[in-house]
Amino acid sequence: MADTTDRSLSPASLLAHGGGGIDPLNGAVVPPIHTATTFARDTEYRLTSAAHIYSRDDSDLVRQIESLVATLENGAESRAFGSGMAAISAVLRSVRPGGTIVAQSGIYWGTTSWLRKHCAHAGIALIEAEAGDTERFCETLRETGPDLVFIEVPSNPWLTVADIAPIAEAAHALKAVVAVDATAATPLLMKPLELGADIVLHSATKALNGHSDVLAGIVTCRDAHTDTWRFIREERHDAGAVLGPFEAYLLLRGLRTLSLRMERMCANAQAVAEMLKAHPAVEDVLYPGLASHASHAVAGRQMASGGYLMSVLVKGGAAEALAVAGRLNLIKRATSLGGVESLVEHRHTIEGDATGVPVNLLRLSIGIESVDDVIADLTAALSPLGR
Ligand SMILES: *Cc1c(COP(=O)(O)O)cnc(C)c1O
Repeated sequence: MADTTDRSLSPASLLAHGGGGIDPLNGAVVPPIHTATTFARDTEYRLTSAAHIYSRDDSDLVRQIESLVATLENGAESRAFGSGMAAISAVLRSVRPGGTIVAQSGIYWGTTSWLRKHCAHAGIALIEAEAGDTERFCETLRETGPDLVFIEVPSNPWLTVADIAPIAEAAHALKAVVAVDATAATPLLMKPLELGADIVLHSATKALNGHSDVLAGIVTCRDAHTDTWRFIREERHDAGAVLGPFEAYLLLRGLRTLSLRMERMCANAQAVAEMLKAHPAVEDVLYPGLASHASHAVAGRQMASGGYLMSVLVKGGAAEALAVAGRLNLIKRATSLGGVESLVEHRHTIEGDATGVPVNLLRLSIGIESVDDVIADLTAALSPLGR
């Protein structure tokens, strides 16, 4: 049924059809949810279908998602996981004890926090380095000779857009594997594999699903014949951090509207960022779509737009930032990002002083609401600080 390999179709068309065709059995235009965990054999003990033994690795819905995402990424193969962290940890566990990982600093806190524990536990050297300065980052790679380089593009909450091509070139000269967490970009804004990355991954919990109702992760490789990819594939199959059938169904349903949602979210975000940048109660706005942002030039080369995520530095301290968040009505105070509804988060409350996130920083994930309503909500929340 799946027809996800036609790379001449535009991403919007592939997505609208959920990467699938018509079910030849009954003409259904959406795939069924199969809940069976196991598949019967015949009297000769032959499998009814060679591709169906046990559902941990043999879900048709999951395969359809994987083939759709592999096509969108222009990659070789994908594997879906039960969460973004399950995907990230499978990739990072490919480095053996005694190895070295260079990870970008100032990224998604869950990744940093897990990496620190895992590397200490497994006897892996972990070097955290700022990736906005390409030359310095590549110098760190040459000094430390990592097995794997992990960057998050754009990063969260700084919205740093690491320059993937030169980083991949420097890493490959050292035979290091380059993995990119592109959750905040989605395959529609950026294709890291085309820029030289070996692995791209997403928390599909975010924009790929887009409705804040599914936990999922997905990893895609450029070349399926590498030791790293074999490890990731086996890790998914053997360690079993899989996506259940209902989650897979919801994710595929969410993916169908990804291109529409991204268009609206990114257009809204650009307008919101421009409004905030000009607001007297705002010290700065970190958004790759603004010319004032340090990553604007790289983003212009590497991304189709500035994305849907931004951080706002409110004039004042933690109290002022929290008060602004507290006065928002439409925009919900909640962690996470990439959903159809706009969300605001005070990252310092979550991370504390450990990572240097400013106390006056509010991270916004912009949704698909009317941009006028989003701007009015923010303007009203900021107005006690000055107009
Ligand atoms: C949310 C997020 C993750 C973790 O994904 P989960 O699906 O919550 O496990 C990883 N990276 C980034 C950039 C994220 O935003």
